[in-house]
Amino acid sequence: NLSELVSNILKLNKLENQQIFPDKKTFNLSEQLCECMLFFEAQLEEKNLSIELDLDENLKIKADYDLLTHIWNNLFSNAIKFNSEGGKILLTLKKKNQYAVVTVSDNGIGMSCEIKEHIFEKFYQGDSSRSTQGNGLGLALVKRVIDIAEGNITVESAIGKGTTFTVTLPLK
Ligand code: ADP
Repeated sequence: NLSELVSNILKLNKLENQQIFPDKKTFNLSEQLCECMLFFEAQLEEKNLSIELDLDENLKIKADYDLLTHIWNNLFSNAIKFNSEGGKILLTLKKKNQYAVVTVSDNGIGMSCEIKEHIFEKFYQGDSSRSTQGNGLGLALVKRVIDIAEGNITVESAIGKGTTFTVTLPLK
């Protein structure tokens, strides 16, 4: 946990205090999403979670590959952490005008409006029972990366029903 905390603080510090020049290259976004999801295979199995994918497999994006992995890894990790045993995760990728739209949905614990207002703040953790797993920096990092990529993130959530994060990124 400590090494993850230090690594997140350093990453966020760099993203906030240094000018970032995204290293853009063109790649297939659905492949990146699948690769990131595979990384969580063991955790998905451990919690007996099922995954549904609805991905536009031909969608190419010109963006900083490594920066975008931070977004997916954090959103997937939260969709697993805040899900219940045997729950579901839905991942979609669609093209909308000149944007890629990615949604990550879970049917886990959800969050209140009060929590929702603060989730992108540094060190904020809404759910005290799961606060040992994480450090409240994940979504602050996600937000910063999305700002750098000139994209947008929104969240819809209902307590006890689940949460959907929608990320919109320019294709070029
Ligand atoms: P961490 O996961 O380390 O607690 P994050 O910055 O990733 O920190 O998330 C901040 C808070 O947002 C979490 O503590 C939790 O309260 C809420 N949250 C994030 N993702 C979800 C989700 N998928 N379902 C319910 N709550 C979530």
